[in-house]
Amino acid sequence: MKYRTLKMSVVAVSCSLVFSVSAESTLFTNVNVFDGKKDELLKNYQVLVVDNKISKVSSEAISVQDATVIDGKGMTLMPGLIEGHGHLQMNGTSLPDIENNRNWEELAVRSAARAKSALMSGFTTWRDAGGMGAGLKKTIDSGELVGPRIYPSGAFIGPTGSHADFRNFTTPNETLYPRGSAGGRLGISCTADSIGDIKACARQNYMQGATQIKLMSSGGVASSFDPWQLDAYSLEELQAAVEVANAYGSYAMSHAYSKVSLLRNLEAGVKTLEHAFMFDKDVYRAMKKNDAYMTTNMTAFSPYLGEIEAINSNPASARKAKTAQAAFANYIDNVNKYQPKLGFQVDCVGGVAACEQQTDHSIYLSGKFFGNHYTLISMTSVNGEIVKLAGEVLDPYFEGKLGVVEEGAYADLILVDGNPLQDLTVIGANEKWFDAPKRDGIETMKIIMKDGVIYKNTL
Ligand SMILES: [Zn+2]
Repeated sequence: MKYRTLKMSVVAVSCSLVFSVSAESTLFTNVNVFDGKKDELLKNYQVLVVDNKISKVSSEAISVQDATVIDGKGMTLMPGLIEGHGHLQMNGTSLPDIENNRNWEELAVRSAARAKSALMSGFTTWRDAGGMGAGLKKTIDSGELVGPRIYPSGAFIGPTGSHADFRNFTTPNETLYPRGSAGGRLGISCTADSIGDIKACARQNYMQGATQIKLMSSGGVASSFDPWQLDAYSLEELQAAVEVANAYGSYAMSHAYSKVSLLRNLEAGVKTLEHAFMFDKDVYRAMKKNDAYMTTNMTAFSPYLGEIEAINSNPASARKAKTAQAAFANYIDNVNKYQPKLGFQVDCVGGVAACEQQTDHSIYLSGKFFGNHYTLISMTSVNGEIVKLAGEVLDPYFEGKLGVVEEGAYADLILVDGNPLQDLTVIGANEKWFDAPKRDGIETMKIIMKDGVIYKNTL
């Protein structure tokens, strides 16, 4: 969007730092900083943004020539939020609805609306967990559309009858990809039943701009043909996917519910477990050994889960949701006990209003289950580490860290009126889900900056 040449000299003069900059710069004064990691705010700080990076974080006064000065009035400056597992292009009401009733035009236009809504809700980075390639990302990066930085996964990779199989019961099983489904033709899913097919799907995704690949290695709830208990891929098949990912310097993320599937994924070298509802001590040990992460959609534990259209519109899904919720009863206690590296995710399938409601409710649930600090680091520094697993070669935003307020990190920042460590409603948390009123942004989120550019300022 804007690459400016930068020359900067720094002179320390007694207690105040004097910067002379020839690039665009913004100085936040009088802010308390949540840095994405610590369980306390840095009180009364100043943060200097030069071009698209954070240049200085200081308790001392920073004096700069030609900077735009923003008096933060004692509010909290924190990293922009990061969605660890979302689906911008999965914006029909359910998987069968996407397969049967939507064409590329509607999905694409709606994904642009979803991207704008995400940024205006404070999400400056988005790991897309499957269902689209790099087209939207490139359009946002070029400045033609407003939205977060995107790490796309391309098409979901899964076998016939898995969580990645979007066909109707009557759709003919043609020989290979795209096997006659709209999901296949649109690059949403890639059906792979052999090691060769898995590698072909993975390579196709990387060719199309994926930064990581997404495997559907166990059954799911929102799909039609797969019991959630299904272990869909063998160890050898998972290893084949990881081998391709590693050849690109990247990694595999894997949708996995059951303990068998979680452990098998870790053994194969998968780096992020998605959902991971049967997380326990053994899974924790294997995660530690493999330096792995997990992300979980908290709405799976919401008392209102049965009201979600992606599930209640499909009788098979509604039945599955009941047994799944019962089987996942130990998840919350186990996470609190072992404290794994947990990334935040919403995993919304739907349009703008539905996904805003689901996001706000997910933040609320995470805070309720795990506390505000664990929730906030999962939405910032932990997800910032997760997206960087894409590796130096494929990472489109390789010049700086994401999810932290640190010198050298990208200037993706939000200024919120209140202390999120004490009150998550300042970033949108809402106890209500479907009953929550439609909103237009988040009132307490006064400034939204991405890549050094301010997209919202209601200060
Ligand atoms: Zn998902």
